[in-house]
Amino acid sequence: GASTHLSELDASRIIFTRNQNPRAVPEPNSPEVWAQNVCTDHMITCQWTSTDGWGPPHLKPYGPLTLMPTASVLHYATECFEGMKIYRGYDSKLRIFRPDRNCCRMLKSATRIALPAFDPKELQKLIETFVAVDGEKWLPKSRPGSFLYMRPTMIANDDHLGVQRPKAALLYIVACCFPSLDTGIGNLAPTVNGSDEKQKTGLKLLASKEDTVRAWPGGFGFAKVGANYGPALIAQDEARARGFHQVLWLLGKECDVTEAGASNFFVVWRTREGRVQLVTAPLGDKIILDGVTRRSVIELAKERLAENIEVVERKYTMYEIEEAVEQGRLLEAFGAGTAYFIAPVSLIHFRGKDLEIQTAAGSSGKYTLLLKTWLNNIMYGLEQHEWGVVV
Ligand code: PMP
Repeated sequence: GASTHLSELDASRIIFTRNQNPRAVPEPNSPEVWAQNVCTDHMITCQWTSTDGWGPPHLKPYGPLTLMPTASVLHYATECFEGMKIYRGYDSKLRIFRPDRNCCRMLKSATRIALPAFDPKELQKLIETFVAVDGEKWLPKSRPGSFLYMRPTMIANDDHLGVQRPKAALLYIVACCFPSLDTGIGNLAPTVNGSDEKQKTGLKLLASKEDTVRAWPGGFGFAKVGANYGPALIAQDEARARGFHQVLWLLGKECDVTEAGASNFFVVWRTREGRVQLVTAPLGDKIILDGVTRRSVIELAKERLAENIEVVERKYTMYEIEEAVEQGRLLEAFGAGTAYFIAPVSLIHFRGKDLEIQTAAGSSGKYTLLLKTWLNNIMYGLEQHEWGVVV
């Protein structure tokens, strides 16, 4: 049949159209960077249709997309994305962190919402091409330790209002300057918006109420689809308005702990029997995003902390956290994700109670800091590791 003649995604077919009006690179954390997304000079796009498969990828000047008002994505949320960083190492090299994981996850997300499949290795090659073109200028060698935020995205762009599997899709890759949400090794808090006093003492989380759920069994929490994020914005807004940084998403009558904002969530506690455990929610129920940072934390902890700490992926509840806090057994808690990196948590508000996590003021917990330091070193080339892919 015709389907056997569909073209595969093929990074080697890329067409280059250079930007003739490149813009100036803003200063890191400048007001311009806080005010808007300053995107780099180029983007990569690639069109898919159900009749021809994937067309040639195109590297071209960053600019607006053209969509019909009837485009599938605008009505049925046929969209997925990835969030990655491009790092300028202390050895002057450009790196991306475990891009194979992001590309495989993007494939899972895309196929969950009827967007076309592709070879993740080809997506990775496109990402690397993009990094090679824009990374060099936008992350000057004079700024080791800096990064850009990169967004591989896919949308269904066929103009058809029928509720049906899309017949056309656009894959694109863009990157922008991003304010530093992380104040670096040893510091507790991400600077979310300037110099708020509460930032100095770690993230404060507001546990979600029973009527507010991010993801559920049989849903799509595991997929990085836009449909997971838009509906969570009002809860996040309410949390911010009440002085918290993020929502801690709970699920069900037992108040299972799932994720914190757009990060996976970890606790370090001592069990009643006295064992020290690093605990996070499991992936099996397809509720939790398979975070690249989460995976890396788990793997490093198993490899490097096996003598100190037991790594446990299991369902656990807010009541267990509450009990551990009240009995002084909760040692550390942190969010883990690309944007916020490893962000220590100092307080969880649950059903009218402030549960305080007693890490030493002004610094993160011991294991949190170790894991953060190791990952940071791999990302910025202070430790040579296969996860840090040099471009
Ligand atoms: N959970 C959610 C809901 C997220 O949006 C993210 C950010 N991608 C994460 C966890 C962390 O994933 P990663 O470590 O791959 O950035």
